[in-house]
Amino acid sequence: MDCRSLIVGSDLNIPSWPPVIPHLNDALRDCIDSGDWGRYDSISKRVLTERLIDLFSVKHVQLCCSGTAAIELALRAGGVTAGDLVAVSAFDYPGNFRTIELLGAKPMLVDAANENFGMSVSSLQSALHAVEPRSVRAVIVSHLYGTASDVHAIKSICNKSQCVLIEDACQSPGMWIDAQPAGSFGDLSTLSFGGSKPLTAGNGGAVMTSEDRFASRISSLIHRPSDTYAMNAIGASLLLPQLDQLKQWNERRYRTAIQIAEALKQNSSTVRCMIEKIKEVQPAYYKLAFQCESTEFRNRLVHSGIELGLPFGEPFRAMSGSSERRSAKPVSLAQADRYANTLCVLDHRALLISEEQSNELASIIVRAIERAKLC
Ligand SMILES: *Cc1c(COP(=O)(O)O)cnc(C)c1O
Repeated sequence: MDCRSLIVGSDLNIPSWPPVIPHLNDALRDCIDSGDWGRYDSISKRVLTERLIDLFSVKHVQLCCSGTAAIELALRAGGVTAGDLVAVSAFDYPGNFRTIELLGAKPMLVDAANENFGMSVSSLQSALHAVEPRSVRAVIVSHLYGTASDVHAIKSICNKSQCVLIEDACQSPGMWIDAQPAGSFGDLSTLSFGGSKPLTAGNGGAVMTSEDRFASRISSLIHRPSDTYAMNAIGASLLLPQLDQLKQWNERRYRTAIQIAEALKQNSSTVRCMIEKIKEVQPAYYKLAFQCESTEFRNRLVHSGIELGLPFGEPFRAMSGSSERRSAKPVSLAQADRYANTLCVLDHRALLISEEQSNELASIIVRAIERAKLC
């Protein structure tokens, strides 16, 4: 087979992102007509805060300007100061590493898990044993690419070691783990409403906690006396109709992901579609990851997918290459490197494709893999 023959066009209709839903126009008009857009204390932000408290089953939600700012606030409220170690996976949003450094603290790199894209529980345990007791003030654990981190085990390690657990749910709003929302396990947790995220306002975020002492620290960091990390009322108003859709969107993304995984299996593909397998988890896909055999093949697959019109890309880079001066590296980071070097990721907007076209999407992904082998 000639690789050119694999490029023939399709009329795949991959939805755009940010989403186009009619209710956005109504929400925006209401925000303008009511004057809400021009107030410090807007109704849209108050309503969004209440809705998030409800959805995440937490006591306090503080909106802020980004997911990165939410991580910063969580670290500071958690008592992280200069000289502390903060455990973070070497395969995570690189901004989390940078934010730890910003506070004068030092990232302690932990390996990624084999069974999900979050932190490895055994690696965290080994890393904590390898450093001075009590030197690690906080642990950041993120739910990445639609899979759930093992928050139960990590939480119990944090309790034993007296570390503050910061749960990063920036990619996974609406994910449930054992009938409990992801984002409700950490002492503090974070959300992002950045432009690529499953709930988007272009910019924005939130820091959440059920502990009054953390909430009052966040409040004293933010209110001086106006909100120094403020999210905009217009952004908040545009998130409300998206929240109404969230469950349905997550279900659609989940079903498409399963279909893609099955299509790859049927074709005995060497590329594995990394869907969440634990039945107690209701996943929320931000990107869907594909495990390739080599970096070279991954790079070809990304290229081939893009040529066929798929929103393919590379995952986060691993932080394992950072110097000893910048980070503590007490354990092997092999799995983190493997993910960074061999995953190809598909953007979540593709997973929102209509039910009628989801088979076609799956077969184009199979074709992209065939093409990457030939071309
Ligand atoms: C995007 C992201 C962030 C940061 O969010 P921003 O709003 O872009 O600052 C933090 N953590 C994870 C896991 C993310 O994917």
